Formats: sequence, structure tokens, C-alpha cells
Amino acid sequence: MNYNNEKIKKRPRSYFPENIDICKWENVEVELKKLEVEETNSAEGLIKFLEKFTELSNILNEEQAWRYINMTRFADKPEYEKKFNEFYAGVISKVKPYKFKFNKKFYDSPFRKELDEKKYGHLNRIISNDIELFREENIPLKVKEQELANKYGSIFSKLTVNYKGDEKTLSQLSIYLKDKDRKVREEVWYLRLEKMMEKREEFNQLFDEMKELRIRQAKNAGFANYRDFMHQQKGRFSYTPSDLEHFHCAVEKEVLPFLEELTEERKQKLEIDSVRPWDTSVDLDGKTLKPFEKTEDFIGKGIDILHTIKPEFGKRLQMMKNTEFLDLENRKGKAPGGYNYPLVETGAPFIFMNAVGLQRDVVTLLHEAGHAMHTFSMKDIRIEAYRSTPSEVAELASMAMEFISMDLWDKYYDDKNDLLKAKKEQLKGSLEFLPWCMIIDAFQQWIYTKPDHTPEERENSFVGLMKRFSTGVDWKGLEKFKKIMWLFQLHIFEVPFYYIEYGISQLGALAVYRNYKKFGKEKALEKYEDFLKAGYTIPVNELYEKVGIKFDFSIEYVKELVDFVKEELGNLE
Ligand SMILES: [Zn+2]
Repeated sequence: MNYNNEKIKKRPRSYFPENIDICKWENVEVELKKLEVEETNSAEGLIKFLEKFTELSNILNEEQAWRYINMTRFADKPEYEKKFNEFYAGVISKVKPYKFKFNKKFYDSPFRKELDEKKYGHLNRIISNDIELFREENIPLKVKEQELANKYGSIFSKLTVNYKGDEKTLSQLSIYLKDKDRKVREEVWYLRLEKMMEKREEFNQLFDEMKELRIRQAKNAGFANYRDFMHQQKGRFSYTPSDLEHFHCAVEKEVLPFLEELTEERKQKLEIDSVRPWDTSVDLDGKTLKPFEKTEDFIGKGIDILHTIKPEFGKRLQMMKNTEFLDLENRKGKAPGGYNYPLVETGAPFIFMNAVGLQRDVVTLLHEAGHAMHTFSMKDIRIEAYRSTPSEVAELASMAMEFISMDLWDKYYDDKNDLLKAKKEQLKGSLEFLPWCMIIDAFQQWIYTKPDHTPEERENSFVGLMKRFSTGVDWKGLEKFKKIMWLFQLHIFEVPFYYIEYGISQLGALAVYRNYKKFGKEKALEKYEDFLKAGYTIPVNELYEKVGIKFDFSIEYVKELVDFVKEELGNLE
């Protein structure tokens, strides 16, 4: 490979000087004020105006990106957090009103009507949607809502339990739910739930406060309820809330019977009377997969896999490595989690992870690599709105890569049985996720379409959904804990209605994989790349069509995909 030492280079700017110091607000403000009074006298001028602002926005975004990356890489060094917050408060948050003004300028321009419908129709729709939903009076409500959302995060992260002499957070405790010893799992499960139970009232009150703020925002914008408001605000133009209700039903009818079989299999393999909530994560053969030991190996094989899929993909990841755009291994002082952060000016991303040598890390790397390929592919899109992919699209890019790469995971496994196990987990996992995803969506739909409920009615509604989407796990005697399971799902508090996108993308990723198997690698990849390159220049349903799949939540379609998973699992036996 002749790109062994090649590094990623920053691209030259078209409109702004290379030496502009954007860390000083005065400098940024001068440029924004110039843009504010810039006259646009034609349809082309209008587009050029947006491109110009996008370039400035790219410069600012990239600075923010590095500050975020450093903050998470060195989470134990408060100076990085300070630097991030300074830039955010001092520059980024002050740019926001200008962004609105510029979109409004676009919206109000007489030349907007002259734009080529085919090329810019979708842009028009995205920006118009934002402008039409904007309400001055919602700004303070949004600020208050954000404060309360942060409060959830801060209370939750401070919940600790003393376990075997150590202070552990609830997230740290959850790894023991994979312990081979059933007693350990049960004990830990109770510890987590009892801790959460102490916060039940506090979290419910907090949620009620947030709910009221959200309902007021919806009313201000002229909506009958917050669900419909959020649907519109999230730009879900390609489907309706009632389409999602069909998705719920499809999972109930087509996915649950298969998952019930898996629960039965689990019961037999673990030799237990019934599968209790603490029995659902433990490995059935008691063995933990070990795909790699050294980070160097982890990255090298990842590059190798991408290279085999398509040389250009491998080259990109190799160049990220050469440029030190990867920080993959778990280390003291790093923030938890993983992400692909686009460096939009450069046109490449940074990948952050906490790999510890598990199969999960392999999937995460390939998932983030899917996001990374998306970032590279979109780098020539010169209008920000056309690059800001909604999650149904972004997660399809990443989840599809998990499946596309699956046949090459043997690079991490010498033992054929290990490879088979990893593949089976991936296939089963894709369906196992769906019931919980539906519960979280259906629950929020209920909450905001029955806004006058009491906390007790809310809990009952949640329990009803847990029963509706049961996969045969035995909750006998645990009813009081069942009621509070939703308190663990931060999205309900912090990012309402953001969750179903993962279910939509999961279906999409399975469908892409099915094409890969059916029509061969070449054809499926070609479409995958066309999809990546398109960014968000066309609506979600058209992007799904571009990658060669349907945008569909019907029972028939879900059944087809469940059958496909079963068939694939059968082939692995
Ligand atoms: Zn992702």
C-alpha cells in the first residue's frame, strides 16, 4: 500500500483568509456583520451566500470539534473543559442568532422561488421548516428545558452503590450483568434498581416539569401536542407518527415470536426455570470473545477489513491513523463512550473510543468507520444543511458498515467457532434491540398525546408496553421495578423522541446486507457509496431508495427481514 505515510491535509479556503483568528469573537462578529448586509441579487447569489456562511461555519465547527475532542481525551484535566466552555459560550452560542438571521434572509429572498427545484427543493424545505417553526418565546423555555435535562444527567451520573468495597456508578455496575455467576447478576440487578427506586419521585417530578415546558413550546408553535411538534421539528418529512405505530405493530407481530424462541433457548442453555431480567446479557457458552490484545493490531486489522471491502475505504482509515485522528484504547482519564466527530473544514473525522479488547469494540470501530466514510464522502457538499444528515440517515451509514464488514471479521478470529459466535450475536442483536426501541417510542407517544396524566398512570402505561413487547422474560414479583425501567433511558429526558431512528436504521442496515448477499458486493457497494455522497441533499425516503432499499415499516417488510435473519443464522449453523 503506497499510502502508508500519507496524511490528511486541510483544504484551502475560498472566502476567508487562512490566518483569521476565530477564537476572538470580535473577528467572527466582523465577518458575520459583513454577511448580514451582503446583498444577494440572484438565485445563484443566494446559494453562494449560503456557501460562504457554510465555510465560516466550518472553520468555527472545526475549532469546536478539537476542543470537544481534547476535553473527552483528557477528561481528568479541567483546563480542557474550560477551553471548550469558553469557546462555546464566547463564540459558538453567539453565532446561533446569526445563523437564524441568514436562514431568514434565504427564506425571505424573492430569488428563493427561482432556485432549481430539483437541486434545491429539499434545501428550501429544510430551511423553511426551521423558520416556520421558530418562536421567539420558545427560546427561554428551551434554555430552561436544557437546564433540567442536564440535571437528569448530573443526578444519574452521581448515583453510586457500594459493591464489594468499591464505589461504583450504575453504568459501571452493569458489566456484572454479564457475570457467569447467577447470584452475582441478581445481586447487582437489585442494587441498581433499588438505587433507582430511591430517585423515583425526584425523577418523576423532574420529568413533569420538563413535560410542561415541552407542551408549552408545542402550543406556542400552534401544534395540538408535543409529539406532532417534535415530528415536524425533527424534519421527519418522509413519515408520520402513525407510520411509526405501524412499525410498533410490525415488531410486535413479526419480531417477538422469534425473540421468544431465543429466550426459550437461553433458558435451556443456562439450565434455569425461567429467564429473569438479570439473565438476559450473560454469554450462553460462558466464553468471552477476545478479538485482539494490542491497539496496533486492532487498528491494523480494521484498516485491512476496510481495504478488502474497498481500497479507498482502507486508505481513508490508514490516513486517519497517520494523521493521529484516532484515539481508540481505553485509558485512565478518558471520557466514556465512542464517537466519530467530523472535522468539517478538513473533510475528515476523528474517531474516539474506549476499546478494551472485546467483540463489542470491533463492532464499534466498524460502526464509527461507517460514519467516517460518510464524513469523507460528503466533504464536497458546500451547504451546511445538505451535510447535516438526520439520524435515520447517519446511523444507516454506520450500521450498514457493521454488516457489510461481517464476512471479514475472520481477520480478528483464528478460531472459526469464535467467528461464528460473533456473527450470530450481530444478527440476533439487530432484532433483540427492536422491542425496547418500540417501547421507548410508543411510551413517549403516549406521554405527549395524553399530557394530563398522573405519574402513576404514566408508570402503568409503561408497564403495559413492557407486557406488550415482552419476549418471555419472567418479571414475577418484580412489578414495582418494572415501573421504573424507563428512568434509565436518558433520551426520554435529554433528547425527546430521538430513539426510533436507531430502529429505522437497523431495518435499513439489514436490508442493505440482504442486497449485499443477493446482488453481490460490487452492486451493493456502488449504491452504498452513492448514498454516502448524497449527504442530505434529498429526503430520507429517497436516500433509502438510493442505497437500494425500501423506506418501509410495514408488517410484510419487517417479516421479510426477520426471515432473512433467520435464514442467515441457519446458514451459520
Ligand atoms: Zn452511530
